[in-house]
Amino acid sequence: MADYLTEPFPRRRAVGVDVGGVVVGGDTPVVVQSMTNTDTADIDGTVRQVAALARAGSELVRITVDRDEAAAAVPHIRDRLAAQGVTVPLIGDFHYIGHTLLTEHPACAEALDKYRINPGNVGFGEKKDRQFATLIEIAARHGKPVRIGVNWGSLDQALLTRLMDDNAASANPSSARDVMREAIVQSALLSAARAEELGLGRDRIILSAKVSQVQDLIAVYAELARRTDHALHLGLTEAGMGSKGIVASSAALSILLQQGIGDTIRISLTPEPGGDRTREVVVAQELLQTMGFRAFVPVVAACPGCGRTTSTVFQELARRIEDDLRTSMPVWREKYPGVEALQVAVMGCIVNGPGESKHADIGISLPGTGEQPAAPVFVDGKKAATLRGANIADDFQKMVADYIERRFGQPSAAAATADAAE
Ligand code: SF4
Repeated sequence: MADYLTEPFPRRRAVGVDVGGVVVGGDTPVVVQSMTNTDTADIDGTVRQVAALARAGSELVRITVDRDEAAAAVPHIRDRLAAQGVTVPLIGDFHYIGHTLLTEHPACAEALDKYRINPGNVGFGEKKDRQFATLIEIAARHGKPVRIGVNWGSLDQALLTRLMDDNAASANPSSARDVMREAIVQSALLSAARAEELGLGRDRIILSAKVSQVQDLIAVYAELARRTDHALHLGLTEAGMGSKGIVASSAALSILLQQGIGDTIRISLTPEPGGDRTREVVVAQELLQTMGFRAFVPVVAACPGCGRTTSTVFQELARRIEDDLRTSMPVWREKYPGVEALQVAVMGCIVNGPGESKHADIGISLPGTGEQPAAPVFVDGKKAATLRGANIADDFQKMVADYIERRFGQPSAAAATADAAE
C-alpha cells in the first residue's frame, strides 16, 4: 500500500459542523466542495450538474438561490437527485433577499443542508441586523448550519469605514491594505458572534473570508485561524481561467493547508466556454492528493519526456490509463476499497523508467529511441513481465485491471461462504 498519505503537520482543531451527514472540521479530512453554474430554476439542468459534480467526487454542492423560482425549485431538485441515488448535501447561496426567500419557501429551507450568507449582502442600514437575525433564526429553527462567507468585493462598508477612521486617528496608523484585511477578519468574527447570540450553535457555523490576491488570502486566514476555532472554508475568489486559476488557487490553499488551516475547500475556476464544471472538483482533489492529505483516484506518474524518446506512445498510454482510472472510480470506490491509493508509473525510457516503475505499485518502462522494442513491467517492485509488439498499451491496461482485481477485489459472497464453512 502506498505510504505517502501522511499529514506532515497537525491540522488546526476546528469545531466540527455536520452538513447533511458530512462533517466539516473536527477530525474529518478536508472536504471537497463545488458550486453549480446553472439557473437553479432550471430543475433538469441543475439536477444534471449536481449529479455530475457529486459523481466526480464533490462532497458538498452549492447552488444559487436568488429568486422565488429558484427557491421553489430546490425541493424538487433534492427529490430528483434522491431518486437517482445522489445524496450529496446541497448548500443554498443567498444574497440580498435570503431572509425573504427562506421565510416564504419553508420547503426550500428544509431541503437545503446548509445556507451560505454574506454579511456584506444581507441588507443595508437598519434593515441589516433584522434581516441577518431572520436568516439565523430560520437556520436555528430548521437545524441547519450556516456559512458566514465574507467576500472582499462586498465587504461591510460601515465596518470598513469605521476601521479606516480609527486607523487614521491612531498614533501609529497601519497600511490601508492591513486595515482592509482586518475588516474582513472582523466582519467574519463579529457576524459569527452575533449568530451565536441569536441561538445558532458554534457547531452550526462555518466561516470563510475570500479575497482574490494570494498574499491577502494567506494573511486573512492565518489571522482567522489564530482568533477562532470555527471551521473554515478556504477558497480564492475570482481565481480566473485555466492554468492561472489553478496555479493561484493551489499556491494560496496549499500554503494554508500545509499549516493545518482549512476544513473544506472549493477551487473557484472560471470555466472555459463549453468547459466541464467538474474540473473544479478534479483540481481540488488533485491538490489534496498531491499534498498527501487525501487519496481520491489512483495516481499515474509519467515522465515529462525528452530527447531520449521521440515517440508519444508513453504520453498516450499515460493519458489512457489516467482516463480509465478516473472514469472507473465511481464504481471502483465501492468495488475495490482502497484502490484510490494505487500508484501507477508510465515512463518513457530506460534512464528513469525501471527505477520509477519499481517505486510504483505497477509500472511500465517503455522503450526510448534506439532501445530494444521491449517494455518491462514491474509489479510491487519486481519485474513481472516484458511486453512487446503492437499491443503493449492494451496488454499493460489489462495488467493494471488484473492487479486491481487481485489486490483490492472483495472475495465473492459464495467464496466467503465456502471459506466460512471450511
Ligand atoms: S525517463 Fe527517459 S524519456 Fe522520460 S524524461 Fe527521463 S530520460 Fe527522458
